Amino acid sequence: MNPEKLRIGIGHDTHRLVPGGPLVLGGIRIEYDQHLDGHSDADVLLHAVTDAILGAAGLGDIGEMFPDDLIENKDRNSIEMLQMAFARAGERGFQLINLDCIVFAERPKLSSYKLEIAESIAAALRLKPDLVNVKAKTGERMGQIGAEECMMAQCIALLYQTDE
Ligand SMILES: [Zn+2]
Repeated sequence: MNPEKLRIGIGHDTHRLVPGGPLVLGGIRIEYDQHLDGHSDADVLLHAVTDAILGAAGLGDIGEMFPDDLIENKDRNSIEMLQMAFARAGERGFQLINLDCIVFAERPKLSSYKLEIAESIAAALRLKPDLVNVKAKTGERMGQIGAEECMMAQCIALLYQTDE
């Protein structure tokens, strides 16, 4: 592996929590009394993953690829956006080495969902599940996370550019 072909990207996203479930996170549905609000389906984790991949591939960001003033992006499925971004990176010869993600949420407790979420992201990208790691943190009852006003997510993607 040529280290000059490695590219790293970071993604970060925030969405407001509003009443009414279920919660859609990382492409899975979680029974909960709140959901994330936004122009698309507001999957905060998939948006962070998409931005990390686009960043690593030098392809800008999710807002440029899917402008929120376009009607076709309203309530858009975030799995589809992730797959389209990954395909765009693939067209440039990029393969994914690994993803590492953090979800910041006071509630619900996500530890029992982390594996299922990682598998969901890996399946969307047709990757082996062990290439995707998902962590969950609370806000320790501080700030907007701790007050359950919003959820945030971060992701780092490492890509490798093949020669084609
Ligand atoms: Zn978002």
